[in-house]
Amino acid sequence: LDEDLEVLAEWLASAEVVAPFTGAGISTESGVPDFRSPGSPWLANRPIAFDAFLASAEARREAWRRKFAMDDLYAGATPGRGHHFLAGLVAAGKAPAIITQNIDGLQQAAGVPEERVIELHGNGTYAACLDCAERQELADIRSVFEASGLPPACPHCGGMVKSATISFGQALPQQALQRAQALARTSDLFIAIGSSLLVHPAAGLPVLAKRHGARLVIINREATPLDDIADLVFNGEIGAICMRLVELSGDAGRSI
Ligand code: NAD
Ligand code: ZN
Repeated sequence: LDEDLEVLAEWLASAEVVAPFTGAGISTESGVPDFRSPGSPWLANRPIAFDAFLASAEARREAWRRKFAMDDLYAGATPGRGHHFLAGLVAAGKAPAIITQNIDGLQQAAGVPEERVIELHGNGTYAACLDCAERQELADIRSVFEASGLPPACPHCGGMVKSATISFGQALPQQALQRAQALARTSDLFIAIGSSLLVHPAAGLPVLAKRHGARLVIINREATPLDDIADLVFNGEIGAICMRLVELSGDAGRSI
């Protein structure tokens, strides 16, 4: 493992454009559960699909109930070692942006400027009107919801308000997807961290990077369907691996 980490540290040092790509696994150290690990509370609070959300008030009520139940579980979560490591890559000018499937805002909390986090699945730390796109704060929605049992309509246009995440069945934000694809194509080192690489089209990004000549590195506790095409695979804990990478990077690592 350590030999492989030395190789990765060298690749990081020599890379011109690093494309980090993160999934829920980077946030488990912060106490935010992923989807697929055993006992995940997501199973009891499964997100409501987009069609169902649009179709009935009952589903919308249930969606908000589950959303607030999950928020309570990881209120006050702070960035972990993986987030800080990637923030260092951005600060050092190695990574122009971080592509993430996460909705927890922890990468921004680790100091990465908002415009350098490419969120493929939206952001769960605020809500938005589905009609006029106006941003809404969760605390405001929650106080109405708890007082009346109903989520409020958009104060601006009366439209339906939903968490600013991309639900199953909802189209991905095209601009974010295009930025992610452009970064994947131009990167020379693509690092997938904490993703089961099962959700598409996000999971197509490592393949795209590889096809355009990048080295592909996968860091994940369990095997993924893309391990076979990766140049290096680390099956281990993200926090420990990132710490070791900083150590191995020596002086260069200090800025990371
Ligand atoms: P996933 O749950 O499918 O996969 C996470 C992977 O990370 C798993 O393979 C797991 O073995 C691994 N993992 C977990 N903790 C780890 C650790 N400490 N070290 C190493 N590996 C670890 O997540 P995904 O691929 O991101 O896809 C699930 C979808 O769920 C995404 O669309 C995402 O939007 C959403 N989601 C987001 C969050 C979040 O924002 N934090 C949390 C849960 C789900
Ligand atoms: Zn509106």
